[in-house]
Amino acid sequence: AYVLLTGPSGFIASHTAKEFLKEGFRVRGTVRSEEKGKYLKDLYAKDGLNDFDYVIVKDIVEDGAFDEAVKGVDAVAHLASPFYVSDVKDPQELIGPAVKGTTGILKSIQKNNPDIKRVVITSSVASIMSTDSRKAPVIYTEEDWNQDSISHVEKNGTKSTGGHSYQASKTLAEKALWKFIEEEKPSWEGVAINPPLVLGEVIHQVDDPSKLNTSVAGFWAWATGQKKEDDLPAPQGNWVNVKDVALGHVRALTVPEAAGQRFIVGAGAFAGQDYVDILHKRFPELKNIPVGKPGTHDEIVKNSNIFDGQKATKVLGIKYETLEDTVVEMAESLRKKFGKF
Ligand code: NDP
Repeated sequence: AYVLLTGPSGFIASHTAKEFLKEGFRVRGTVRSEEKGKYLKDLYAKDGLNDFDYVIVKDIVEDGAFDEAVKGVDAVAHLASPFYVSDVKDPQELIGPAVKGTTGILKSIQKNNPDIKRVVITSSVASIMSTDSRKAPVIYTEEDWNQDSISHVEKNGTKSTGGHSYQASKTLAEKALWKFIEEEKPSWEGVAINPPLVLGEVIHQVDDPSKLNTSVAGFWAWATGQKKEDDLPAPQGNWVNVKDVALGHVRALTVPEAAGQRFIVGAGAFAGQDYVDILHKRFPELKNIPVGKPGTHDEIVKNSNIFDGQKATKVLGIKYETLEDTVVEMAESLRKKFGKF
């Protein structure tokens, strides 16, 4: 089968394209430049994965951006969307591409390839959590929807917090998928993947640590001594390994029962304390890593919200990697790229 995958130059999508290739799919990636496309083609070819090609889509918000790209494929995985929460000047910076990217690709499919089988989009636990109106600890499931962020942005406009701006962008984008399906009744089926913070090996092109994607940039600060004793214990939310998220996208297109459903792909709660415990254990040569109270994970996360990832295990067969393996993979890949710690 042939899948169109948007944004493979990003952290999660670079792995997702690789996972599709490993499972025997042909992959057409949309990238913003020739250079990013070439990097990926070479990257996969090094592992003997040669069925990757790419097309240039400069900006996902342009009308008809995907009209050509959707032609001839059997399925679509839409991952490209901006993810940052600091220096957001206007929530529309995030909401525009998130929503327009989603509706745009769905319209292009209806126009030029309506007989496609399935569409998976990368949503987030941002579309599920209501951290203002529901007091932690809450066990969130796929039944839950973010009740806070859309109204926050409507009320606060350009004064909205970066967190709510991003969360609103993901909530509105996922709602756009389900609304499109309800109204247009396409012959294809939709699936949403809703990960918490995604961690793990970095394989995409990043030439400087300041350009790391949001979830990995958080870890970089711990690994390079920018975080101090005072920052601990630092509950961080929930996490998942990037390879499990990638496989979730593949299964979303191949497992019949996944049709029409959303899936939390998440492995549990963690804290900055977990990062430093793993760094001390597995990279004892590192200096400047705070110590805190080693081994206190259970105590620290006992009042954390949980995003229950069991449905993805049951229906999609995702068995979650451990946090220790995930952090080690992430650290080793960053060391290889930047050599700075
Ligand atoms: P990255 O920042 O690494 O990747 C974002 C991708 O989207 C890049 O390929 C980027 O292209 C592309 N993109 C963004 N805006 C545009 C635009 N206007 N036009 C064209 N391409 C665009 O992020 P992640 O891999 O972390 O995120 C991927 C998806 O996963 C997003 O939808 C995000 O919301 C979601 N997600 C991420 C989580 C995480 O912890 N990382 C958690 C839950 C969900 P370019 O490289 O050219 O800039």
